[in-house]
Formats: sequence, C-alpha cells, structure tokens
Amino acid sequence: MAKNIILSMKTINDFNFKDKKALVRVDFNVPQDDQLKVTDNTRIVAVKPTVEKILKDGGSVILMTHLGRPKGEIKNEFSLKNILEEVSAVLGQEVKFVEESVGEKAEKAASDLQPGEILLLENLRFHNEEEKGDEGFAEQLSKLGDAYVNDAFGTAHRAHASTAVIAKFFNLTKFFGLLMANELKAIDKVLKSGEKPVTAILGGSKVSTKITIIENILPAVDNLIIGGGMAFTFIKALGGKIGTSLVEEDKLPLALEILGKAKQHNVKVYLPSDTIIAESFNNDAERKEVDIYEISEGWMGLDAGAKSRDQFNDVLLNSRTILWNGPIGVFEMSNFAAGTIALGESIAEATKLGAFSLVGGGDSVAFVKQFGYADKVSYVSTGGGAMLESLEGLELPGVAAINN
Ligand code: AMP
Repeated sequence: MAKNIILSMKTINDFNFKDKKALVRVDFNVPQDDQLKVTDNTRIVAVKPTVEKILKDGGSVILMTHLGRPKGEIKNEFSLKNILEEVSAVLGQEVKFVEESVGEKAEKAASDLQPGEILLLENLRFHNEEEKGDEGFAEQLSKLGDAYVNDAFGTAHRAHASTAVIAKFFNLTKFFGLLMANELKAIDKVLKSGEKPVTAILGGSKVSTKITIIENILPAVDNLIIGGGMAFTFIKALGGKIGTSLVEEDKLPLALEILGKAKQHNVKVYLPSDTIIAESFNNDAERKEVDIYEISEGWMGLDAGAKSRDQFNDVLLNSRTILWNGPIGVFEMSNFAAGTIALGESIAEATKLGAFSLVGGGDSVAFVKQFGYADKVSYVSTGGGAMLESLEGLELPGVAAINN
C-alpha cells in the first residue's frame, strides 16, 4: 500500500480559493449513446463537491479532462462540446467552453474567467503530448491556473501530463479534490485502518489478474472469500472435479501457494462449497445445484449455490470492514445472477449493521449500479484500473505527484 497517504494528504479543504483560478483535472470519460448524449453521469456528479467548495470560496474553476481515445487527433465525436450541456446541468450553472486546452484561445478564456464561473477545456487527448506525459504540454496547461487540483481518480494510475507531470509547476498549490480524497480514504480504511474483522471478497473470471491483489491484501484481512470463475482453479488444485468450469491449469500450484500464504497470515479462506452448474455457457442451459468438488464431465459451474451463499452471508454479517471486487457468478445471465445478488444483499445488510463496505473495480461496480445496491454500501469506487492498482499496493502516479 502507498505509504501514509492519509497523513500526508493535502486536499482543497486546506486552501482558500478566493480570487484564484483552480485548474481541476477531472475524469469526465463518460459513456455516450449514438447521439453522443451522456448515458451515465456518475463521474460528473462525483466532482460536484470539489467544484462547489472552490466556487464557494470565491474562486473560479477550469475543468480539464480526456474523453475516449482520440489518439492525438481532433475528432468531433470526442469533443467535450458534446457533454457540455450535461456538465452544466449537473453542476447547476452555465459552464463555458473553449475549443482548445492550451495556447492563446485557452489562455484568453482562462484569464477572462471571473470568480464563481466554470470553464471546460477541450479534450486533452486531442494532443499526443497528454498521454506521453510531455513536460512542455504540462507547463502550457499550468499557465491557465493559480492552483492545481487532481480529482480524477479514474485516471490517477496514468502518469500523463495533466494527471501527474503538471503538479511540479504548482509546488505549494497542488491539492487532492474531494472525490480523490474519498477514494483514497476508502482504500485506506479497508487496507490499513479498517475495524476488524476485515473481509475481502474476490470474484471474477481469472486468478491471474487478481494474484497481486490477493498477495497485497493478505496482511490486512481476516477473511478472504473467493468466488466466481477464479474459484474453480482453487477447487481443482484441492483435488475437486470441476467438469468444464473455467480453470487456469498453469495456476494450480499458485492457488495452493496462495492458500498456504493465507494460513501463514491467519487469514480464513472461504471457497464456495456448492455451485449452480450448466451444460453450456448459456442462460437457457439446463441447470443443477451440486457439490462444487463433484461436477460431472461436460458441466460447468456458473454461480454460487445456496449453502455457499449462506456461508458467505454469515461471514459478512460478522464483519466490520468489507472489500468487494468481482462478481461470484455470471450475473450478466439472469439464471446465474442469484449468487451475486445474494452477496449484494449480505453486504447491504452488513452495512446496515454498521460495517464499512467498499465496492471497487469493474464488474462489481457495474453490478451494484445495475441491481440497485449502490446506495446500500458505504462506498462505490469511480475508478476501475486505479482502484485495482491501489489494491495491488501500487502508489498511483496521480497520487504521488501531489504527495511529493
Ligand atoms: P473479471 O473481469 O476477471 O473481474 O471477471 C468478471 C467476469 O467474471 C464477469 O463477466 C462474470 O460473468 C465472470 N464470471 C463470474 N463467475 C464466473 C464463472 N463461474 N464462470 C465464468 N465466468 C464467471
């Protein structure tokens, strides 16, 4: 885990922005429909507290972000003009727009900005220099504001010009935005200062993509629930018959090694004891509930069974801190979603009982939003890759740039 992020964290609450222009890196890389309308504004809503605090101080806000992958070319479909209306609607006031992110036009728009106003710059990735972390480009951007604020957790694992390199031009006036601070606090709460017992649930398809996370969290957790496709590599390593379930044959020794390390750390590992099997990877395939160690040839496990759900529920209701990454069944197919729904229910119930619960990384975030659990857990991360890298114990470049 990154060292003492919380102790050294300098946030916008440590600064008065009166008459200052705050250059705020946000992550408005939002999904859009065919008409380029924003279909999920979560990432815009998430930076509202940061924008409000700066404006309330009497400052102005210059928002900069990337959208999609234009790869250094100016393309209308990636223009931030297309999301301007939504940004204004969410932030509750007219947001100005400038069709450049650096250079004369951008500098004029920034210098004309009055306290209380918000300006959105054009897509940073219209310049190749952004992703290359070009220092000259970062310096040009830095001319637009008096202070630099990073509130782009979703992009914090990238060492790009606007997410990391730029910070060196704001030695004393660089700060974490409130979203970024909340994300870092949530990770810290789980991996460092979490009330015990701490339980991590790891699911998803592959062991190989989760190994570094498992190794990093073992010293921090009391219980580790392993579910989803990745569980079958463990079950096979332990001698189970898994039929045609998902397996990574080359990771069988590693699975045993992980179980050994968990023991050394006094971590209790919970694997599913039963599973819903199907004859093919198809929602309408015939289903059966069986012992997970006794899957017949030609059948595959696609969801957690009832006994497993009950056992996971018991563990979770006795936990004070919960981390969830990865579904424990193929929830995209309705006939195999029950296990992940039961897990969502258990985490919601534990949260109601006072546990702190963090849901982070890709599919589990999609699940809680789709199935209505987002408001029933303590924190849903806005960053996929950035959350995974944090759980792996890496210090994110966007975080290091502010801390150093
Ligand atoms: P990942 O990207 O590795 O976190 O994996 C997420 C995916 O794992 C989801 O799309 C789930 O459908 C899938 N998954 C969960 N359980 C299983 C399973 N038993 N067999 C195959 N895939 C699974």
